[in-house]
Amino acid sequence: MTGGIVDIAIIESWDEVMTSLRAEVGEAAFDSWLKPMTVRDMVGDQVRISVPTRFMRDWVVAHYADRISALWCRNIEIFVQSDHGPGEGDGKMARVAPATEPAPVANVATTATGEIPAADPRFVNAPAPVPAYTLSTPVITGMAQVALEISAPLDPRCTFDNFVVGKPNEFAHAAAQRVAESDTAQFNPLFLYGGVGLGKTHLMHAIAWKIRQRDPNRTVIYMSAEKFMYRFIRALREQKTVDFKDHFRNVDVLMIDDVQFIGGKDSTQEEFFHTFNALVDQGRQIVISADKSPSDLEGMEDRLKSRLNCGLVADIHATTYELRVGILQAKAEKLGIEIPPKVQEFLAHKITANVRELEGALNRVAAHAQLVGREVSLESAQDVLHDLIRANDRRVTIEEIQKKVASHFNIRTSDMHSARRARSVARPRQVAMYLAKQLTSRSLPEIGRKFGGRDHTTVMHAVKKVEELTERDAGFAEDVELLRRMLES
Ligand code: ADP
Ligand code: MG
Repeated sequence: MTGGIVDIAIIESWDEVMTSLRAEVGEAAFDSWLKPMTVRDMVGDQVRISVPTRFMRDWVVAHYADRISALWCRNIEIFVQSDHGPGEGDGKMARVAPATEPAPVANVATTATGEIPAADPRFVNAPAPVPAYTLSTPVITGMAQVALEISAPLDPRCTFDNFVVGKPNEFAHAAAQRVAESDTAQFNPLFLYGGVGLGKTHLMHAIAWKIRQRDPNRTVIYMSAEKFMYRFIRALREQKTVDFKDHFRNVDVLMIDDVQFIGGKDSTQEEFFHTFNALVDQGRQIVISADKSPSDLEGMEDRLKSRLNCGLVADIHATTYELRVGILQAKAEKLGIEIPPKVQEFLAHKITANVRELEGALNRVAAHAQLVGREVSLESAQDVLHDLIRANDRRVTIEEIQKKVASHFNIRTSDMHSARRARSVARPRQVAMYLAKQLTSRSLPEIGRKFGGRDHTTVMHAVKKVEELTERDAGFAEDVELLRRMLES
């Protein structure tokens, strides 16, 4: 049957689907697997999409087709576009309807030892791979050489020297240093986790730099879990899984970043699990990062979770105000610019999401000052970061703050105005006053009035007290930070 013409509305909605998917799966996966797809035609209510190779078709069907179909609310059919036009009746088609059963093509089966069964028909009979998305194979000499070739490049800025330590990251930092400075495996694995932009990758690079510096003969591989997966898949396709295993199983230190990425990717998990075990058995060091704790990783097999939990799990917490100021000062010094304390305070109060954003804001402020040839000032910073701040700066009222804080600490909102002085209500009240000062433009007397007619000196005292406590008590600091974030979003 020949296909109908695809109208413009379909192409436009297809572009939207692709845009969402790009955001979902990340640039690298998108470029490798999704970009090469082309909408060809429609047959009945089915949109037909072509991909260049059979391998790709299988991969897309196994991993993305359901999602595409669901996002698009259309039935889709994915076929391999050979030079002679779409193949038909030869098993090259794969159809997917929205919200149906999982896609028909299973993940690559592996045996208990992680070997690929030789008779897997999809690989034995697969046509020669098309070079469109192959990665180059490294020239192999000594082991350290191999590690260097395989390892992703390390960012020269991401060293221990450049890492600012504060309460939220001191534990992770100490663990990372310990791993970097010892010649034998310490905790296996070291598992670093925390939200985006909080320094996981930085710490991993720092470990790698340090180890290479201490002993250039030790082989260190650092790579993202995503890259690990691509390499594994390529090895499968090129039937070079033995080489693949050798590369990984002979390293001294293996670091895999953002391991949450392989959640749900069963055959990659399987391979990773075996690589992991082989290295641990030989006493090699493994360092893993993820955005969640091992137990909370989604789509991860239980045995892998429990393995990841076996070593040392170190959590990087959200930044505190103090850490943000520390980071600003360190980065400003590196950039060789003067940032007045008022501007530091402003940035540390306003850009709270993560270190990456903070860095971005500082760079913008610095670039602007350089461009106009003037010193950095509060006005210029406010001006330059206008859009960024506005996004964070929804107007919050004192009443909202009181309500949120009261419910967070499990007290009645009326206690914000009451005369009760028990610690259990006085402390939350102080937090609310502090947040009112930080997040609204009300004056101290105005804030005092809203808290049952208290004096402005009481508010001042509350602000000082909370600042003092956040410095001493990381748990408390996190509570305050969390509240701030909830109120600002
Ligand atoms: P993650 O991997 O956790 O998403 P990154 O390690 O990429 O975060 O950190 C984001 C940016 O913030 C990087 O440029 C990194 O150098 C910087 N950064 C994060 N934490 C710190 C810190 N404690 N001191 C200095 N720079 C930091
Ligand atoms: Mg990272």
